[in-house]
Amino acid sequence: MLAFSNAMRQLDGAAAHLGLDLGEVAKLKEPDRIYEFDIPVAMDDGSQKSFKGYRVQFNNARGPYKGGIRFHPQVDLDEVKALAFWMAIKTAVVNIPMGGGKGGVSVNPKELSQSELERLARGWVQNMAQHIGPHQDVPAPDVNTNPKIMDWMADEYGKISGDKTAAAFTGKSLEYGGSEGRGTATGQGGFYVLEELAASLGMQSAGRRVVIQGFGNVGYHFAQLVQRAGYVIAGVSDSKGGVYDANGLDLEAVMKAKQEKGSVIDYAAGTKVTNQEMLEQECDILVPAALENQITAENAGAVRAKIVLELANGPTTPEADGILWSKKIYVAPDVLTNAGGVTVSYFEWGQNLAREHWSEREVLAKLELVMKNAFNAVWDTHKKHGVELRTAAFMVAVRRIVDAME
Ligand code: NAD
Repeated sequence: MLAFSNAMRQLDGAAAHLGLDLGEVAKLKEPDRIYEFDIPVAMDDGSQKSFKGYRVQFNNARGPYKGGIRFHPQVDLDEVKALAFWMAIKTAVVNIPMGGGKGGVSVNPKELSQSELERLARGWVQNMAQHIGPHQDVPAPDVNTNPKIMDWMADEYGKISGDKTAAAFTGKSLEYGGSEGRGTATGQGGFYVLEELAASLGMQSAGRRVVIQGFGNVGYHFAQLVQRAGYVIAGVSDSKGGVYDANGLDLEAVMKAKQEKGSVIDYAAGTKVTNQEMLEQECDILVPAALENQITAENAGAVRAKIVLELANGPTTPEADGILWSKKIYVAPDVLTNAGGVTVSYFEWGQNLAREHWSEREVLAKLELVMKNAFNAVWDTHKKHGVELRTAAFMVAVRRIVDAME
């Protein structure tokens, strides 16, 4: 399944409701620039290996290209293009003055040592340094990239360009100019959206069951937040499988098992389920927080949640969207729900350029306002036009991008 063609179908749906002409739609579908390059890396054993690197700069009508860099064996041009396009939609949904871009390297980072990983990260920057920068294109972390990797990248960019602001990369460590609240921002933003959506649907939070696919940076922080707010975390999974307990999991014990033994399935209690079964477990809120194309025409009919809260990018295919909506399951779309990360990245960029450092309280207050305003714009469009939330979010964003392009 190709992520980019799914993304274009989502765009077509919104464009039809907005009455855009074919020329406008064609312009929205065309990335501004695509970079593909080989990154040679000297391995610790003296050999040399080459990895395929990518950056897609999709649309900058509303501001510098913005979007993460993914290190994963599945990374290819189709995926990076889809993710870059979704970034342009996302920055417009939350109304921050940024455009959309994305990058990646086709690599399994778990097979590299720390020094090999550092050489790979710096190699990516050596290829892209001429084409990125604080006012041009500002990358950030994504799957398998983290503050340490962003620090290496920002350092390499500074060495090559002479830039001292560190604003060419976000998601850096606090020591290197990162923002308070960035590490947890995506989960936090998703939590604000969940609370707004639950209130709009007349659902109470206390005791609601949550199942989360993916227990990484985003999934884990989100789990902690919702548990503190009174939700019950009934299931979590990672690439090896999942664990479910309708009465609730001990999150810290699950994390300990993952850190010590490698996976959430090593947690001693609960029922072990496959990744496929995890999506079909009894719950109120299902949270895909791993990769694309997880809820499809094959399994959407078996989803038993009332809300699908997309923290991953592109987890639901267009066919699955149709099936879920026909069952009156609300999908809180990725371009809204996981936009907390890019919003705090935008705050980090602004702090770097202004040489400021905001408190966590300040960051969270600003994030809450951005996420709630975005939710309200999407909810109002949903109500006014009778469309599901993804089409509503795309309608809000596409209108803003088209206005900026004009
Ligand atoms: P991560 O690498 O920290 O975690 C990914 C998790 O998914 C890991 O626990 C991994 O084991 C698990 N996983 C992989 N394949 C799986 C499968 N088939 N089934 C179940 N679990 C699986 O990555 P992350 O930063 O948490 O990103 C997760 C998702 O959130 C991605 O789609 C990413 O694009 C999206 N996202 C991340 C951010 C951010 O700020 N990091 C922002 C917006 C969106």
